[in-house]
Order: sequence, then C-alpha cells, then structure tokens
Amino acid sequence: MRVRGRVRLMVALCDPCWNAHANQLALEEGATAPPKVEPDPDDVAWYEPPTCGDCGAVVRHYPTNYDRWVYLAVEDLPAKDVAPRYRWRLETIRAPYSPVAVDVVAMRIRGIEPLPSDPVRPAHRAVCLSPDALQEAEQEAEQERAADPE
Ligand SMILES: [Zn+2]
Repeated sequence: MRVRGRVRLMVALCDPCWNAHANQLALEEGATAPPKVEPDPDDVAWYEPPTCGDCGAVVRHYPTNYDRWVYLAVEDLPAKDVAPRYRWRLETIRAPYSPVAVDVVAMRIRGIEPLPSDPVRPAHRAVCLSPDALQEAEQEAEQERAADPE
C-alpha cells in the first residue's frame, strides 16, 4: 500500500477501496471531468484552452486532491455569490523540503464556512450558462430556501 492522492492527508487504502471512495467523493463534489490529456511533445497543433461542452465558456481544468478532475471557473468570486456545494480553492503543492511549486490541486471547501467576502473558486457548473445548469441552480436555491425559510 502507498499513500494516495496528491496531498498527504488521505488514509492509506487498498486499490479497490481507494477507487470506490474517490469515485463516490467525485460524484458528490461534481469532480467528474475527464483527466487532462498530457500534451504530446511532437504535436505542433495550436493549444486550445478547455471549454465547457454545454455553454462554450473557457474553463480551468484541475486535478482534485484525490486524483479526480474538475472544471472550475476562471476567476474567484466572493463566497456569498457561490452556493456552498460549488466552492473550491486552489492549493499549490510544493516539493518536499523545497519552495518549488510542482502542482496545483483543487480542494472543495467544506467544514469551515468562508466569510461572505472571502474569495472562492466556483465550480464551472455554478457559473455555466447552459439551460441545464441554470435549472440546476434554481432547484438548488429552492432547496436552500426550503431548508432555511428566512
Ligand atoms: Zn458551461
């Protein structure tokens, strides 16, 4: 067994357990983007930034700390403008005992609530302009109102 994920805060699990756990977490958090394709060094085609398949907007493609992938928006927004389930932050991973940044991973913000003005990185889904995503956001808001009728 080895330590999995890109940061050392995950428990050590055997492969099937790890995959089941990571897949479930990915579904829960919406980290269902395909893994990033490593660019072929011989490929001279123009590099296009990834875009959303639903609305065509430019998205950022990040690995999560548990080796699944997620599409995030290109800019931070204040936490008050992003529904809790879509709040992420970017963490720079450094090589051990070195200041050199080796990777950036996306982590869902859970547990501690950010202040309303704290910048968070919304999942692209939260800012997606596709009809499906807008409908999803509406249902989300309704559920929140039902849970907290103030
Ligand atoms: Zn979109």
